[in-house]
Amino acid sequence: MTANAPITQDVVTIPRKLPETDRTNLIGLTRPQLRDVLIASGTPENKAKMRVDQLWQWIYQKGVRSFGEMTNLSKAYRAELAGKFAIAVPEVVSRQISADGTRKYLLRIAGGHEVETVYIPEEGRGTLCISSQVGCTLTCSFCHTGTQKLVRNLSAAEIVGQVMLARDDLGEWPEPGRAPKDETRLVSNVVLMGMGEPLYNFEAVRDAVGIIRDDEGISLSRKRITLSTSGVVPEIARTAEEIGCLLAISFHATTDEVRDRLVPINRKWNIAALLDALRDYPRLSNSERITFEYVMLKGVNDSDADARRLVKLIAGIPAKINLIPFNEWPGAPYQRSDWERIEAFADIIYKAGYASPIRTPRGEDIMAACGQLKSATERARKSRAEIAAETASGG
Ligand code: SAH
Ligand code: SF4
Repeated sequence: MTANAPITQDVVTIPRKLPETDRTNLIGLTRPQLRDVLIASGTPENKAKMRVDQLWQWIYQKGVRSFGEMTNLSKAYRAELAGKFAIAVPEVVSRQISADGTRKYLLRIAGGHEVETVYIPEEGRGTLCISSQVGCTLTCSFCHTGTQKLVRNLSAAEIVGQVMLARDDLGEWPEPGRAPKDETRLVSNVVLMGMGEPLYNFEAVRDAVGIIRDDEGISLSRKRITLSTSGVVPEIARTAEEIGCLLAISFHATTDEVRDRLVPINRKWNIAALLDALRDYPRLSNSERITFEYVMLKGVNDSDADARRLVKLIAGIPAKINLIPFNEWPGAPYQRSDWERIEAFADIIYKAGYASPIRTPRGEDIMAACGQLKSATERARKSRAEIAAETASGG
């Protein structure tokens, strides 16, 4: 992709197909939404709060997927629920496990579209990298996802469902009364760093994060959830106020000229505008540090001068800088910086007082590393007519 590439690509936006059944999926509904659907389907109002609590615990604390197992509800009520509602997570089409233990799940969602979720086990933590869109409308020139032409927003159910099916696969639904502490959990952290730009799917991401955080359910603390954005400036204050998780920024360059080429959304909101929005984030969200992600591209953004400019630019913002060695993908127009270069860059940042971890590429052998995700079955090759037929009942 060249400097003249559009900020957003010429994508085919796929409508969300209605589910195959007419039963409403309870996953992904916020507590108030769940209450509303129960009342609308005949649950008496004075019982609704209790029913929401009970369902919530079965679904999000115990991981139960059938109403039949909800033994503190009457048989008649269970049958009534089963007739009207579903508890559905995306279907796992395949699971690959890397030599380093990283797991990549290929998921199929309504309409037959596909997304990927990656689980990365590390010493003392396990991070689940989830997707917010099928593909991405943006065109960052180093990112594989940005070359996928079909784009559709995931629903809150499909976002929360990724966490639930990882727990299924890892066998992590606790026995009653034995919920593990955060530190010992297999899925101890969630990062919105998979496919898609989360802030272009704001409402679904917000609702999903709210559900993942809910104390009586999956109950991950907000400090263990990180949203990564390419820099959708008008949504940043709202992210602090309505989502409140940690923020990571795909920064990647220290001049507008280079950032325009790497992260084309920079032509809409440049470095100065982005940094302005970021200065308020820690106060608004009550969080400590913003992570600046910086992909290391040989000869493009990896000089000593870049490192020095970077620390100057972010001065005054509580920050940590995450250096990401570029992960190659077929046809990629860049190369990874040499290891000595990455270390020299890291050293300058470190001496300026910033933590500067270099992200070890994980799961490369299964194309699970950052920026390598793209639905395996190149659906972009489908014709518009085929897509229209597939989504005929959608809207
Ligand atoms: N759309 C969001 C989140 C998904 S990308 C965003 O851009 O922030 C997650 C991170 O992986 C981003 O920092 C992104 O810039 C980085 N990334 C994308 N392609 C990459 C590649 N090929 N190698 C290394 N990092 C990459
Ligand atoms: Fe989209 Fe993020 Fe990839 Fe850019 S880096 S194309 S915003 S997924």
